[in-house]
Amino acid sequence: MKSCYFDLKELVCPDVYRRFGERAWIFLDEKLLDTLVVLREKIFDRPMLVNTWAAGGAFTQRGLRCNLCPLVREKSAAGVPYLSAHNLGKAVDFDVPGLSAEAVRETIVKNQILLPHPIRLEKGTSWVHLDVYDEGRGSICFFSG
Ligand SMILES: [Zn+2]
Repeated sequence: MKSCYFDLKELVCPDVYRRFGERAWIFLDEKLLDTLVVLREKIFDRPMLVNTWAAGGAFTQRGLRCNLCPLVREKSAAGVPYLSAHNLGKAVDFDVPGLSAEAVRETIVKNQILLPHPIRLEKGTSWVHLDVYDEGRGSICFFSG
């Protein structure tokens, strides 16, 4: 599923885009994409910032992360299992320019009736981590990284 609001390069790391190009949409979970469209269109109605590498920015690790990505390689090298939702195309880290991360989380909670799938939000971070791992605890599950 392509999204009219998000460029694929915002949602995957540069390694993946270089290797797979636009085919890399297949690696992103439909539940995540459905959720992003609802956030963009119905809940915030303004731009959301995920990866910025394609526009010359520093963010590369905020969407899908592959095995070459530093966070993943470090865990592998250390012999630590690492199953972040980012590895499975089920997570984004993002900002809504003009709103604090806490304000974004509060707005999502207030509008949770609109969410098409259960989500998880990470507590207390200065960016917003959202993923679609379902822990069976309702429409929004808060967790600590
Ligand atoms: Zn990568």
